[in-house]
Amino acid sequence: MSTNLAANLSREETAARSAAISLHSIRVELDITDAVNAEQTGFRTSTTLRFDAVTEDTWIDFIGETVERVIVNGAEQPVAWDGARIRVAGLQASNEIRIDAVGAYSRSGEGLHRFTDPVDGATYLYTQYEPADSRRVMACFEQPDMKAEYTFVITAPTGWHVLSNQSPVVTTGGGSAQTVEFAPTKRISSYITSVAAGPYHRVSDTWTKGEQRVQLGAFCRASLAEHFDHKEIFEVTRQGLDFFDEAFDFAYPWGKYDQIFVPEYNLGAMENPGLVTFTEAYVFRGAATEAQREGRANTILHEMAHMWFGDLVTMTWWDDLWLKESFADYMGSHASAAATRFTDAWASFANRRKAWAYEQDQLPTTHPIVADIPDLEAAKLNFDGITYAKGASVLKQLVAFVGEEAFFAGARAYFRDHAYGNTTLDDLLVALEASSGRDVRAWSTAWLETTGMSTLTLEDDRTVLAQTDPRPHRLRIGAFALSDGVLVRRDSVELDIQDERTPVDLPDADLLLVNDGDLTYAKARLDERSLKAVERALSTIDDALARGLVWSSLWNATRDGELPALRYLEIVRRHAPAESHVGILAGTLANAAFTIEHYLSDDVRDEARAMWLETVWEGLVQAEAGSGSQLSWARALGHAASVADARSGDIAAMLDGTAPAPEGLGLDADLRWIWVQALAAVGTWGKDRIREELSRDDTMSGRTAAVEALASRPKPRVREEAWRAAWEDESLTNDHLGATIAGVRAGGRRDLIERFDTDYFERILPVWQTRSIEIARRLVRGLFPATPTLDAVDAWLAGNADAPGSLRRIVIEQRDHLARDLNVRAKNL
Ligand SMILES: [Zn+2]
Repeated sequence: MSTNLAANLSREETAARSAAISLHSIRVELDITDAVNAEQTGFRTSTTLRFDAVTEDTWIDFIGETVERVIVNGAEQPVAWDGARIRVAGLQASNEIRIDAVGAYSRSGEGLHRFTDPVDGATYLYTQYEPADSRRVMACFEQPDMKAEYTFVITAPTGWHVLSNQSPVVTTGGGSAQTVEFAPTKRISSYITSVAAGPYHRVSDTWTKGEQRVQLGAFCRASLAEHFDHKEIFEVTRQGLDFFDEAFDFAYPWGKYDQIFVPEYNLGAMENPGLVTFTEAYVFRGAATEAQREGRANTILHEMAHMWFGDLVTMTWWDDLWLKESFADYMGSHASAAATRFTDAWASFANRRKAWAYEQDQLPTTHPIVADIPDLEAAKLNFDGITYAKGASVLKQLVAFVGEEAFFAGARAYFRDHAYGNTTLDDLLVALEASSGRDVRAWSTAWLETTGMSTLTLEDDRTVLAQTDPRPHRLRIGAFALSDGVLVRRDSVELDIQDERTPVDLPDADLLLVNDGDLTYAKARLDERSLKAVERALSTIDDALARGLVWSSLWNATRDGELPALRYLEIVRRHAPAESHVGILAGTLANAAFTIEHYLSDDVRDEARAMWLETVWEGLVQAEAGSGSQLSWARALGHAASVADARSGDIAAMLDGTAPAPEGLGLDADLRWIWVQALAAVGTWGKDRIREELSRDDTMSGRTAAVEALASRPKPRVREEAWRAAWEDESLTNDHLGATIAGVRAGGRRDLIERFDTDYFERILPVWQTRSIEIARRLVRGLFPATPTLDAVDAWLAGNADAPGSLRRIVIEQRDHLARDLNVRAKNL
């Protein structure tokens, strides 16, 4: 059995384990004193587990360098460890097991990640576990329904901040090391325990309400301190705590509330109770748009909602992962709109978050929101657009269906009844039925247990609303009139539909916007008259949500090959410059670039790239000085200039300072690198100029950007080296691997990499069997070849029917993306 097989726990075996064992407490002692020594690959970890058992043997999960000692009820047992599971025997009714082991510092963001800052040489550590990497740090029962009181005791260099879910109670030691013992946690699952340590920059604040007083901390690397806008972070945090305290009527359960922004992070954020981890991308080194600030506020509130939904009450197994994620995703937007200055949060949700769901829901691997998750690998891949964005969309409907008051009353009862416990979907439905008096089972069947979406179209001269995949919707149709070139909402009709065709009586209107208000989850098409009105006046609609829905409809129709790609690009050219919602603008610019690279046929692509470059250039020149729109156009210029070189000289002159940048545009390090990538990809800047840029910004971000720029140079030998490094160089961190992959694919230069197509299909199975899932997934997804036919991928799928299901899922998804490209391209011929 390979380690990866042993590591892949199944639902059945974990259910049997939790039935046989009642876990009480886990004490974890970690020694990270030598973390600053790069030669030191591992750290000592000792775990003491106390539990009752009705079985004589079981296994305890651990992945690391070695297991040195296993002591069961005072007697040492021979170590029986297969790399993932430690077998223990001789259990009694009540047990104490101690396991001494050596864990490995991580460079992939899984487990205990170690990072050394190139700016000041400082070493930083943090943990990331979900769904199942706490076993890379401590011997434990790695399944969400085995909750315990955890006590962490950490020995670390003196002078460091040492953090965990709880506050420290005792600190001892002197000289070069300190030992910090934290208060025991309340009962929590292993995947939300957390540790961070290092010379982090710290700021503090307090949130008080009535009797409650919660200490707030915010942390980032010392070298980022000057960029850390903790005031806004704390403001949103306090607004969120006010809001959730009231809405959930259950006092914040975890004592203090620390939020730490960490390097080389694989995701947006993680809801560890009392110590939430965030990606450093939320510490803005350069200028940031209002959309980025809105995104950060949304994430802060999403994680905060998890303190109750997910942490206090936790799913029994990963089948119900969606339950906590859709709830938190819904709350991220809901609380943003209700409690912060980001009152437009639902427009961003409609335009961007739902696009993710619609995309995922059309893949052959889509699944019901309530998913069947037989094992951990399947769980890892289910952190997807269905679980988050479709789940949240559907939850939004449920709130409309039972009413907001009944929904929150149900949530409050659910928290009270299940605090510190585990639940399944049924427990929530019971609570909602009790609070609303409505039958939510039919809703659950129609929306949670099905896949795909309906497409809504007005037919027969706008007298019939037709839907594919019929299901019940409550929706609104907005009627807009063109008046002096401006589209104005005159009327709206709200209706329930269920059947394939529903007769409708709609007012005469230039634009009929199906799903106005974004009440339901469906692709809504524009009829030809509406499309013409939109072509003329989309940007004049005085409602960001409505514009977002129109942009979303246009994008879905383009992806489906129903709206010709060139017609879509023309609408973008005409109306993006006047789009005032920065989030919608940034999304639209990205979609236009994607359309050119993926949906146009080869013979028109170069011309479209050149034209798009001029559109973006003009957008940048015309944008309001210092605005978020200006910054969005400047970033879009980076991509446009990486596939067409007509503006390389102008960009280089701005970077050199020989030509002025547009007024109000700060050429900070982040923006400079975006442009440097473009110059590298078209061959304008070579190794020396890239190294010069690195000497201006020798930081973590700078080094990662330089890895990408160097690998982007359009030379066959450079791309070949990058290709080999991506697959073979195991010293690459998660971020540097991502940068190397981006370099291999830079500039849309298939001609430079098509000779590796065969190699790709030979490498993916071995890489899946030997590398961590995070690294393997990045490789399999990121380097999938854009072949001109499906032959190669189909041959691999046919020849590898027994490959791991999760690997096949990724390949099947990539195949589908390619099939869509080829299909839409053919329609656009
Ligand atoms: Zn979440």
